[in-house]
Amino acid sequence: MKTTKSTKNTKNTSNKKRRWLPLFLCLFLLAAAGGVFAVSKVKPDWLYLARQSVTGLFSSAEFEAFTPEAETLQTASAEELTQGAYGCIYGTELFLVNEDHPLPAGYTPSLITYQDTEVSMSPLLEEPYRRLSEDIAARFQDTLYIRSSYRSAEEQAAEKEEQPAVAAASGASEHETGMALDVYIPYYGGYGFLKTDAGQYVNSHCWEYGFIIRYPFLKTGSTGIPFEPWHLRYVGLPHAEIMEKNSWTLEEYFERLVPGNFYRSGNYWISRQEGPTLTWPATESDFHISPDNQGGYVLWGTEQK
Ligand SMILES: [Zn+2]
Repeated sequence: MKTTKSTKNTKNTSNKKRRWLPLFLCLFLLAAAGGVFAVSKVKPDWLYLARQSVTGLFSSAEFEAFTPEAETLQTASAEELTQGAYGCIYGTELFLVNEDHPLPAGYTPSLITYQDTEVSMSPLLEEPYRRLSEDIAARFQDTLYIRSSYRSAEEQAAEKEEQPAVAAASGASEHETGMALDVYIPYYGGYGFLKTDAGQYVNSHCWEYGFIIRYPFLKTGSTGIPFEPWHLRYVGLPHAEIMEKNSWTLEEYFERLVPGNFYRSGNYWISRQEGPTLTWPATESDFHISPDNQGGYVLWGTEQK
């Protein structure tokens, strides 16, 4: 009798359990869906990123090694060219800064304050950034703001102390060069930036203005930094177009720029050299030099027709 009762009780309990099971499952699924929804509020727009990744598979920019005609080659010292000889324009577009290539001690970039704000940035960024923000205003009636631009070594050290997991160590941040900007749209900062049309436009088109998304999606293995859709780095043209269309990071671009070689992309030639004597093909205009922070220089210009 006792046994029967006990069996009956067990049956009842297990029936009760079975009855509750669908409810538990429903609650679990609801909680999971809620979790996904909550995450999607702060995570980037996955659909946009998926679309952009697929588009990236089908885009490319010309980047081919070539040998310039010997009689068109000219030579000068790196010192002469960085001081403007032969109409050469000096900039820091291709200055590589990361954990492996920190800034030289005491590095002091040239800076301007942007329009009537207190934002400090390299003079190279002023005109391209103005055009980008004006285009955003015209296209989307939205205002692009700068959250962070130039940071001194002390400010970067403070940032590192505040956010040790995400901020770069002092000397290893592009913000110390004045060549990087963290941007946002009001109420849409961080990954939320990609939830706005303006943020998506910045990510897809900033190369047209000479900027790159310096820490792209799925490129942490190359840059060492997780995806930052808000961090723009100015590298100028043609470099921004080559990197964007070929889906290369700045690190990957340098892997392809073999020192001493010449490369062609559209009307441009590009060459990375170690110096101290530098060589370049006679060039019509737009002749540039940038130190690479790896002991050498990158030269580029438009080809003489
Ligand atoms: Zn940044």
